[in-house]
Amino acid sequence: MSQDHLHDVLIIGLGPTGAALANLLGAMGLDTLVIDREPGLLDLPRAVHFDGEVMRVFQNMGLAATLEPDLRPSSGMQYVNAQGLLMLERKAAATQGPQGWATNYLFHQPDLEGALRRGLDRFGCVKVRNGLEALSVTQHADEVAVRVGSTRSAGADETLRARWVVGCDGARSIVREAIGGPLHDLGLHQEWLVVDVELTADVALPQPTVQYCDPARPVTFVNVTGRRRRWEIMVMPGDNPQALLEPDHLWALLAPWIRPNQAKLVRSALYTFHSLIASRWRAGRLLLAGDSAHQTPPFLGQGMCAGIRDAANLAWKLAAVVRGEAAEFILDSYESERLPHAREFIETAMRLGEIIQTTDPAVAALRDQRFAREGTTEIVNLSPAIGPGAHTGAAVAGTLASQPRLSDGRLLDDALAAHRFALLTAAPESLQASPDARAVLERLKVCQLSDPALGNWLKSMGAQHVLLRPDRYVAALANSAGEVASWPIAGWGYSF
Ligand SMILES: Cc1cc2nc3c(=O)[nH]c(=O)nc-3n(C[C@H](O)[C@H](O)[C@H](O)COP(=O)(O)OP(=O)(O)OC[C@H]3O[C@@H](n4cnc5c(N)ncnc54)[C@H](O)[C@@H]3O)c2cc1C
Repeated sequence: MSQDHLHDVLIIGLGPTGAALANLLGAMGLDTLVIDREPGLLDLPRAVHFDGEVMRVFQNMGLAATLEPDLRPSSGMQYVNAQGLLMLERKAAATQGPQGWATNYLFHQPDLEGALRRGLDRFGCVKVRNGLEALSVTQHADEVAVRVGSTRSAGADETLRARWVVGCDGARSIVREAIGGPLHDLGLHQEWLVVDVELTADVALPQPTVQYCDPARPVTFVNVTGRRRRWEIMVMPGDNPQALLEPDHLWALLAPWIRPNQAKLVRSALYTFHSLIASRWRAGRLLLAGDSAHQTPPFLGQGMCAGIRDAANLAWKLAAVVRGEAAEFILDSYESERLPHAREFIETAMRLGEIIQTTDPAVAALRDQRFAREGTTEIVNLSPAIGPGAHTGAAVAGTLASQPRLSDGRLLDDALAAHRFALLTAAPESLQASPDARAVLERLKVCQLSDPALGNWLKSMGAQHVLLRPDRYVAALANSAGEVASWPIAGWGYSF
């Protein structure tokens, strides 16, 4: 059976990345179909942490208020050695960080994914079909054909059509295969056992996340939300990984913290943590987002965050192309901007991985001596600039703008037209007087905002006019109408 309907975008995979992208595309009015081979939501938590930038993306999807009651601002993360020495520390979350939200949150992944999926019900233009597996992907000049099979009834194959296909289909992506190009291996592959429990008694466990850097058995402990607690336990040379999953073994591993009469096992699973990055994120009408494009070991809790950032970066560009507002080559900036950004997080997570995954006692002793000498190192939230693309690259262009509160108490983004370029300006009248500056702003369909509370913010940027992209990264800065008129928007795909 072939389907006649041509969708703007077909998203393969309704994990957190696909669900986030679908919410953004829905809000932008794109005809979007999302398929997933699973019959419904997987009740298997993997991610437990996200940061303030990701919460801001949820805010811009209109879902922050829905999510907030189920989140817990993080109580920090500590890397301690076998003797209890604090080597590295990410401090407890500031309740209002630069993104207008707590700097770090803990969450229960099925709660989050459930809310993202329910969020899709708001959009008549978004359709979700569970139980469909993409089997092959074929590109034509103006569209892509995706052959899908039902995972519920054999033989019920059909072909779906879309102008753009985004592979949010995780680590074993079929879209990545269709795009081709090597998968760069950054070198970390390590098996870990993940155990989730629900407390049935009050137990004195740490509030912060603790990375126990014990060379005899590295372990991560996470106080997730409510009565949920997580242990991630490194599989050591000589372990029989399958045997570790047996309840007696699990309780023996958890014995330093908790006994069987204090909690019930919710689930246990083996994962191999990887550090991989796809070398091509776009080929024609095919794009990758999330774990299909990059996989990171979870020592910073940033794998899913990278997927949500991908969605925020890609959604407005796809919308601009579908609406005919920007040339297709703007989609190339998705990879050039996001790949180095994602890579920086992976490499940082790998450096932390080297610290916790040290199993040679002699190497661990040298590590411990170094930290004892140098003192505790603080882990600060990374917020690197994106790579070159749809921004000028000058000064702070290419970095994520902070989100101040305005004079009426609202957060900045709530006062801006959602998913549109925004111009924050201290001197709107100077731009009105310049037809060339006005033409640039009209071409980008910017919404303009002047507010007394932005005075210091603009001063800190060193500019009178700051152009924010729909994903709230800084696109360009200017101090005069002439500078606005010369912003290189044609190079971003917005020619006149
Ligand atoms: C133990 C552990 C802890 C982690 N902790 C954190 C953390 O604290 N913070 C964080 O940010 N990240 C964390 N991560 C990483 C995070 O879980 C992943 O990066 C994230 O889930 C990736 O989301 P995704 O939507 O890109 O891919 P996935 O979640 O893998 O979703 C892919 C979806 O695509 C579907 N699919 C695949 N192939 C097809 C096909 N051919 N046809 C149809 N459907 C298909 C699948 O069914 C699935 O639903 C952790 C990971 C692990 C393993």
